[in-house]
Amino acid sequence: MSQAIEDLIPDYLRGLPVYIPGKPIEEVERELKIHAVKLASNENPLGPSPKGIAAARAVLADANRYPDGGTHRLREALAVLNGVSPEEIFVGLGSSEIIDLAARVLLRAGLQGLTSEGSYAPFSVAIRASGAELVLVPQRNFAFDLEAMAKAITPKTRVIYLANPNNPTGTAFSGKEFEEFLGKVPDGVLVVLDEAYIHYALSVGLQDSVAAYRKQKNMLILRTFSKVYGLAGMRIGYAIGTSELLLAMNKLKTPFNTSGTAQAAALAALEDHDHVARCIETNARERKRLIEELAKMGFSAVPSEANFVFINVGPEATAASEVLLYKGVIVRRLGWMGFPEALRISVGTDEENDKCLSAMAHVFVMGTFKSALATR
Ligand code: PLP
Repeated sequence: MSQAIEDLIPDYLRGLPVYIPGKPIEEVERELKIHAVKLASNENPLGPSPKGIAAARAVLADANRYPDGGTHRLREALAVLNGVSPEEIFVGLGSSEIIDLAARVLLRAGLQGLTSEGSYAPFSVAIRASGAELVLVPQRNFAFDLEAMAKAITPKTRVIYLANPNNPTGTAFSGKEFEEFLGKVPDGVLVVLDEAYIHYALSVGLQDSVAAYRKQKNMLILRTFSKVYGLAGMRIGYAIGTSELLLAMNKLKTPFNTSGTAQAAALAALEDHDHVARCIETNARERKRLIEELAKMGFSAVPSEANFVFINVGPEATAASEVLLYKGVIVRRLGWMGFPEALRISVGTDEENDKCLSAMAHVFVMGTFKSALATR
C-alpha cells in the first residue's frame, strides 16, 4: 500500500502558519514602478556598523574554511560585556534560532509553553512545533499582563516567552516589574526574555535582566545583532543562560550555525560604540517626531520603547497600508498578529520618516473624506 509523505507530517506541524516575510524592496519597486522606503521589518536605517563591515570583509578570503563552531572570541567578548562566563553565552543564527532551540530542548507533547497574545509570532510557532500545547494570555493595554501570565502557569508549563520591548506593540516592562514576575515563576519553568530591542528602551537598563539572571537562573536572555548593530542580514544573535541549558542547545544546533563573516562583524560591531550611540540617539529623536506628527493627524500611537511605532488606524488599516505602498512607503499590517486595525511603522532615517509622514497625510485626508461622506 502506498502512502504519501505529506500524510506522515504530524497534525501539530500541518496546522502551523507559514511565516510571510515582507516583500523585498526591489520587488515592490519593480512591481509598482516606484521608489520605495521599507519601514516594515524594524531594521536599522543607518546601516551596519562600518567597523563590522570592515571586519567581515577582512575575513572573506577565509571563506573556504569552516568558521569557529564554538564562536570563542565572540563569546569571550560577550561574556566580558555582560559580566558572565563564556560558558553562559550561546551564539545563534539570529535570536530566531535560539527561540526555536529553547522550545526543542524543554517542550514536547503533554507539556505547555506560555506566551502572550499580540507578541512575536515565532514564540507561538516554536511552542507548537515542539508538539507542546500553546497557552496564550491576553494583553493589557498592548503590553504583557505579567500578573495574568504568572497565574496561567500550571504544573505542565516548562517555558514562558516574553519580549521586552514587545514586538509589535513596542511596550516595555521595567526591571522591577520583571523581578516581581520572576518571583512568581517556579524554578522548573524557563523564562525566555527576548531583548531584541533593549538598546532602544531608554527606560529599561541593559543590565537589569542580567542582574535578575544572576539571582534566579531559570532564565534565558536573548539579544541580537540585527537591530542596533545593523547586522540583520548577517544572521547572528546570542543568549545568556546557564551552561547546562546551553550545552543541551549546543547538541541540537547545526554544527556551524554562524558564519565566520557574521562572527567577525559582530565582534567589531560590539566595539563600535559611536555607531551604537548614533543609532540610539537618531531612533529616540525620530521616534518622538513620528509619534507627535502622527498624533497631529489623529493617529494615536502606543508609547514605544523600540525602533518602531504601533498606530491605530481603524477598520481602514488595510486600505491605508495600500495607500502608503502606492506612495512608496512599505509598512507592516498586523491583522495576522491579531491587530486588524493597526499598522507597525519602523522608525527610519529623517528623510524616510518625512516620506512616511507625507504619505500618512494622504491616508488621513482620505479617511476624513470617507467619514465625511459616511455621515452625510
Ligand atoms: N525577537 C524579536 C522580538 C524580534 O522582533 C525579532 C525580529 O524582528 C527577532 C527576535 C529576530 O531577531 P534575529 O534577526 O536575531 O533572528
